[in-house]
Amino acid sequence: MIFESHAHYDDAAFDADREELLNQCRQQGIETIINVSASLDSIKSTLALAEKYPFIYGAAGVHPDEVGALNEETFAWLREQCRHPKIAAVGEIGLDYYWDKEKHELQKYWFCRQMELAKELDMPIQLEVMSGSSGTNAWPIQVSREGVATAVVSIPERYMHTPVEVVHRQDLEDTAKLLAAFVESLGRGDKLC
Ligand SMILES: [Zn+2]
Repeated sequence: MIFESHAHYDDAAFDADREELLNQCRQQGIETIINVSASLDSIKSTLALAEKYPFIYGAAGVHPDEVGALNEETFAWLREQCRHPKIAAVGEIGLDYYWDKEKHELQKYWFCRQMELAKELDMPIQLEVMSGSSGTNAWPIQVSREGVATAVVSIPERYMHTPVEVVHRQDLEDTAKLLAAFVESLGRGDKLC
């Protein structure tokens, strides 16, 4: 079984041939897709996809570059969307010091709030974390709901001396600690929450 844990098929880039592409995915043996949202708008388009296609589930969350759109009102709306039966994770959430669109304190605040939300709702999180210098140095952590492998950490090219670690965690706190440890290992020593 192929489980695609991180897709953005609601993106406008797929407007021309989305239907055809998704049908091909099924034919090629992809049984389940998590379409991951990044903004308040893409939570809506993710839900539309999940409601249309039985094999598509969604992650609802606000990407660090978009956290300027969060306030108590929109956060309450996000919490409601997370209760939708086809929302399987909170994401993508994290820190983006590469594009650096939002202040780090704001990114950290809403990252923590969204992790707390996931904990409150007993949902996995889907992370996007970009460190702050050139190239491909992102290290996404993917967290799948059903479970055996709950987090896969891929280490950016720049840090290839660090062993790639595959972790099996049920516990969001462990994942948060892992993340904090990694951020610290990059020399920033930031405290997250
Ligand atoms: Zn993504």
